[in-house]
Amino acid sequence: MSNMSATPELLRCEGSAGAVPAREVYPARSAELGGGLTVRRALPHRARRLVGPWCFLDHFGPARFEQGKPMDVPPHPHIGLQTVTWIIAGEVLHKDSLGNEQLIRPGALNLMTAGNGIAHSEETPPENTHSLHGVQLWTALPGRQRQGKAAFDHYPVLPVAGFGACRAVLLMGSLGDARSPAAAYSPIVGAELSAERDGSAELPLEPAFEHALLLIEGSAALEGEALAPDRLYYLGAGRRHLALAVRAGLRLMLIGGAPFGESILMWWNFVARTAEEIAQARGDWQERRRFGEVAAYRGERLAAPEFVGRLKPGG
Ligand code: MN
Repeated sequence: MSNMSATPELLRCEGSAGAVPAREVYPARSAELGGGLTVRRALPHRARRLVGPWCFLDHFGPARFEQGKPMDVPPHPHIGLQTVTWIIAGEVLHKDSLGNEQLIRPGALNLMTAGNGIAHSEETPPENTHSLHGVQLWTALPGRQRQGKAAFDHYPVLPVAGFGACRAVLLMGSLGDARSPAAAYSPIVGAELSAERDGSAELPLEPAFEHALLLIEGSAALEGEALAPDRLYYLGAGRRHLALAVRAGLRLMLIGGAPFGESILMWWNFVARTAEEIAQARGDWQERRRFGEVAAYRGERLAAPEFVGRLKPGG
């Protein structure tokens, strides 16, 4: 995914200070991804920019189409983050400047670690099931790793844990005894919760983590209150359990992690610490340095927007 805004905001994101349970609701906003695909962006939200190291959450689809490419995000750069791609229906073809080409289908995870710089494209492949539904999240990389080497990993199978009527697939981190093989660089959890029958579920949470939920489809209730779709439910920290009432057909994302200990700056597709780092990365992309080329992609790459380098008042 890419921030396609012609005038992306410069956002400062700070980890949470308190470690107390909360119940805050933030509506996702619509964003265009090019090619006609509209996504709902749940993170960053003006009033909630980080959940642990998670700094970006796009929900795309469900969409049905007869022809064409509903997803066609041309080559664009990233620094300082990981992209975590999870497909619910359909398929996405990833191509990057390290030479990787990876088709992702439901049940598998694509994890791209940008480190000091990588470029990639994401598109609907020519042969497809005429459907598209999924999420992409970003995590901020901590100090030591953010200037490391770029990497791309594909995990075809992820661990599953059962909690009452819920089935949890571990994308990142662990829940109960299930641990994702995906490489993470700070204390984190990311899981898809689903239900094939009506019932209840109690999931163990790490009390040092802050957590949030995003309903993807179906229905569930938290502490007696039904969750609405495309709203980020921020739960704060200090919770040892998550008690849910679930209906068959539920699909819900759970994200969390230790409050991120560094103040980060986000702009366009970059996560950095200073405006100078962002200006440097933007210039390197425009001058075709540092990031390499996505040689397998047919078409033009994305041009970087102008970087003004100022935080909005109150931002
Ligand atoms: Mn991207």
